[in-house]
Amino acid sequence: MTANLLEFDQQGLADFCEGLGEKRFRATQLFRWIHQRGARDFDQMSDLARSLREKLKTSARIEGLSILSQHESTDGTIKWLFDVGKGDAVEAVFIPEDDRGTLCVSSQAGCAVGCRFCSTGHQGFSRNLTTGEIVAQLWFAEHFLRCHLQRDDRVISNVVMMGMGEPLQNYSALVPALRVMLSDHGYGLSRRRVTVSTSGVVPMMDRLGQDCPVALAVSLHAPNDQLRDSLVPLNRKYPLAELLDACQRYLAYAPRDFITFEYCMLDGVNDQPEHARQLIELVRQHGGTGVSCKFNLIPFNPFPQSGLTRSPHKEVLAFAKILSDAGIVTTVRKTRGDDIDAACGQLAGDVRDRTRVGERMARQRVVKITQVPVGASAGSKEN
Ligand code: SAH
Ligand code: SF4
Repeated sequence: MTANLLEFDQQGLADFCEGLGEKRFRATQLFRWIHQRGARDFDQMSDLARSLREKLKTSARIEGLSILSQHESTDGTIKWLFDVGKGDAVEAVFIPEDDRGTLCVSSQAGCAVGCRFCSTGHQGFSRNLTTGEIVAQLWFAEHFLRCHLQRDDRVISNVVMMGMGEPLQNYSALVPALRVMLSDHGYGLSRRRVTVSTSGVVPMMDRLGQDCPVALAVSLHAPNDQLRDSLVPLNRKYPLAELLDACQRYLAYAPRDFITFEYCMLDGVNDQPEHARQLIELVRQHGGTGVSCKFNLIPFNPFPQSGLTRSPHKEVLAFAKILSDAGIVTTVRKTRGDDIDAACGQLAGDVRDRTRVGERMARQRVVKITQVPVGASAGSKEN
């Protein structure tokens, strides 16, 4: 079996080259071909010695994920459904904005945390993605989009680990994938523009701060343990006080001087003015100094099995105002790609139920899937 080079960060690729009897620095050239130029064919790597190319052909491959579907929303949002084998599929979503291009990436097929308001949670856990499967989402999207949008420069400027799965429950695959995203020879993303979102796996938050500090989003969703226990079952293991302690510790390493708290607005459940007041007290008083934070209120994406409904917009605005009036920067997430069910955090949908995916595909505009030509971005400015 050949090695899939998408599985390696730069260090791993250097070890691999060394194993082939090559100098470690060859890995840099190879890494750039793969990630900066989207190459998948060794013959194309003209500045690599022929002898190395021949060795690579017999011992390695560059293999992305196969695509089950691609949907493009009228607002430019694009959602891909990738096959990860054995009936499992994961999604990635590209969200274009004026000043940035964000890719929402999955870390697991399914999720073991089982949050009440999350369709991925309702599917249960299937398996961890490998580093290569995490990286492949970005590798494919970036090089596909350069072709699709006819751009020479980098299209994806931000990555959010907010697709399917709990990234901090797949830590060993996550960290090398983050390193590929951050590497100057890879995607060159700044630490501030790569966000890991977690439901609160406290010990792994500490490790991330040490190993690979990137921007952190914490899915809070409730201002007290009783309510959070019922929405995010992981809270029973790591209750709010421990979670907020971990946030404070993370801030010492974080590339930003705040934690983003995500808060999914559930009608009549966690969206009352009283909840907003409790939140203010919680984040202000914690540990005496409080936690430096911003709030991102997420309109709930309903799905039938949840038995929950989206808070009316008026209530969301009123809730946001209470937080803002207390001096806490608060944003309300814009819903994007609504017509293709692509809102971040609602990615998994009916992934396992292919029939429903099929039905939806029939209703939506299905964009022809174009393979990224070898060296799609060859000749582009490397950044
Ligand atoms: N497991 C991680 C990251 C993936 S979920 C986490 O929980 O943070 C990304 C975000 O989407 C989380 O804030 C999650 O709470 C939110 N989310 C999940 N289901 C949602 C839904 N149905 N509507 C709106 N947001 C949802
Ligand atoms: Fe898992 Fe995040 Fe969904 Fe909770 S919200 S079930 S942690 S993916």
